[in-house]
Amino acid sequence: MANLKDVTCPVCGPGMSYTVFSPAHLTGAVSQGFTARKTPDKLKFRYVRCRGCGLIYANPVLPPESLSALYNVGGFIQEPQLENMLSDYLAQIGRATTGLACKRVLEVGCANGELLLRAREAFGLDEVWGVEPCAEAYEAADMRIKPHILADIFREGLFPPGHFDLVMFFQVFDHIPAPNEFLNLVAHYLRPGGRLLALHHNIRAPMPVLLGRHAPTFNIQHVFLWDKHTMRRILENHGFTVEGIHGCWNSYYVDHVLRMLPLPRIVKNTLRKALGGLGLGNLRLRAYVENMVTLATKPA
Ligand SMILES: [Zn+2]
Repeated sequence: MANLKDVTCPVCGPGMSYTVFSPAHLTGAVSQGFTARKTPDKLKFRYVRCRGCGLIYANPVLPPESLSALYNVGGFIQEPQLENMLSDYLAQIGRATTGLACKRVLEVGCANGELLLRAREAFGLDEVWGVEPCAEAYEAADMRIKPHILADIFREGLFPPGHFDLVMFFQVFDHIPAPNEFLNLVAHYLRPGGRLLALHHNIRAPMPVLLGRHAPTFNIQHVFLWDKHTMRRILENHGFTVEGIHGCWNSYYVDHVLRMLPLPRIVKNTLRKALGGLGLGNLRLRAYVENMVTLATKPA
């Protein structure tokens, strides 16, 4: 971790000062890459809070190319919680595509394309494309959707400019090391009047507020930790009209909740085993815990 780089607030720009929110915890190597939903390993960069907008972000961090390299070797985890996420996300896509005359949809960070596949069937989407940098996730794609996935980083030159009516990304934006460049690309690929749909952590949601700096949200995978205010600010900086940002109810299996809790591993495993033995691990809870959903429009 010798080559950590200072970053500035992507909302307020260079020159804005910050206060330290929580110290770094970087002992141990990050050798196995980053994988969504893996058991938190407590590694984290130092987090600071911008004095201008209040954004909490990792600083200093690995340079973007090193972060991307970690994602490329990261694996793809199939687990029961995925099914809960898919049905929750599908409902959001239904809302976001309502009223769109033409439905050409791009998902950034589409993993194995399962969500795109289901959305295409559920909402009669005209054209779907996904971009996914993790080769293992791409390889796991169903053949009905694989030809519509580009195993690539999100960059210029993948599609014609202004091609899409909806660009969406789920649990992606807080992992993006260069959010302004990312939103420039989203705007580049959206037609005027097209929509952006984002779902990811809200650092001021009940769970992170309750657990403070011990919340699993504070981990090495999350560079920028957005809330409703900072999300609105950065989107408006890019000319988007924000239609709504709100807390998102999601379904969770009891076993998944236990796995993500900031407790010693031995305690967690004992609890998981005990509840699993009672057949309660697959009990489904529905709550507003940590996610927010954003819908915004590119001006016509
Ligand atoms: Zn700021």
